[in-house]
Amino acid sequence: MIEEVWKVDPQLAEAICREIGRQADKLELIASENFASMAVLQAQGCVMTNKYAEGYPAKRYYGGCQWVDVAEDLARERASALFGCEHVNVQPHSGTQANMAVYMAILKPGDTILAMNLAHGGHLSHGSPVSFSGQLYRVVFYGVDREKEVIDLDQVRDLSKRYRPKLIVVGASAYPRTIDFAPFREIADEVGAYVMADIAHIAGLVAVGIHPSPIPYCEFVTTTTHKTLRGPRGGMIMCRREFAQVIDKTLFPGVQGGPLMHVIAAKAVAFKEALTPEFKTYQEQIVKNAKALANALAERGFRLVSGGTDNHLMLVDLRGKGITGKEAEKALEDASITVNKNMIPFDPQKPFIASGIRIGTPAVTTRGMKEGEMEAIGGWISRVLEHPEETVKREVASEVKALCDRFPLYPELRKECRGVT
Ligand SMILES: *Cc1c(COP(=O)(O)O)cnc(C)c1O
Repeated sequence: MIEEVWKVDPQLAEAICREIGRQADKLELIASENFASMAVLQAQGCVMTNKYAEGYPAKRYYGGCQWVDVAEDLARERASALFGCEHVNVQPHSGTQANMAVYMAILKPGDTILAMNLAHGGHLSHGSPVSFSGQLYRVVFYGVDREKEVIDLDQVRDLSKRYRPKLIVVGASAYPRTIDFAPFREIADEVGAYVMADIAHIAGLVAVGIHPSPIPYCEFVTTTTHKTLRGPRGGMIMCRREFAQVIDKTLFPGVQGGPLMHVIAAKAVAFKEALTPEFKTYQEQIVKNAKALANALAERGFRLVSGGTDNHLMLVDLRGKGITGKEAEKALEDASITVNKNMIPFDPQKPFIASGIRIGTPAVTTRGMKEGEMEAIGGWISRVLEHPEETVKREVASEVKALCDRFPLYPELRKECRGVT
């Protein structure tokens, strides 16, 4: 897929190949990342990138849209089949754009949103002061309770009654437990609020039914397509039929211009893959792997926020180990293990230091790794964090490389790399 890039721009070809090598030779444990299939990559690299298709299938502002219409219709039909939604818009360029369109469709600047605190697992686009969402709207945050470290529904109810939000947002980027959407609906009905579930992280689990679906409880459900769902980088909005028109016209022309038709084509492919029985097995393995890795860490004395995981990720509280999240991220990176530092609930550290790390299993599970490999990875993480010394990091890095070699990633792409990886 990069033959011509080598001819036109060897500098860039080399960067691409080094990135292929990095992805293949290191352990990717960032919970929001995954490896899209060759079919998804090829569709995303197709000529549909050339086409302007402002509008929606059969209602475009440009001629020549008959084939991109096929792509968008396939993506929409398959998304509806996967999630059982009444209406879907597959055009958002990202999860943040999907959320922006929902807010702009139903809120006016200054209206109140109730959402999960970023420091407790929420997302920037859920009202952080550094995001448009925190600048345009009045935002009130709920979080987890101190003891069990699960979402504090009493607080959600109390804050809803006190602040009367027009929209309640449920969904997170760093929350290891199952989310029960039903009580959010009940609370919203008590105060006359809409509910938007943002399932960016758990969409794959929801699609196959191993995490409860928010669709029956929410007017709006947004997601990304590149995390557990394993498609191209992008976003999507699902909503009830009565909001179909306002969502579509708020996304385009409200907040976006021409859709990325090549990405929508790749979304169609990813959704087709997600409708197969193999995809369900894959999602089940992600969860089994997360449990196995969580157990391996707990056995070695690491404290997991909320005591473990129900989904694809875990949050490790490092305070008992005398290392910060920032230091842990760096030490593991030196050992070829990629994670991200993360705030833990009620974190005494600043966000840039943080007391924890977030670890997820979607990407390593795509490579075919199972519980046995998770046990080994847990041991390596523990060794590096207990003894972040050069020799230890070097030893672990070579064991990581040997493991990665047993689970090859994108071998057909590496062949095009002229030995540069
Ligand atoms: C990843 C994520 C998003 C948005 O992602 P983009 O980077 O904008 O695609 C939105 N909400 C949640 C909860 C997320 O985890």
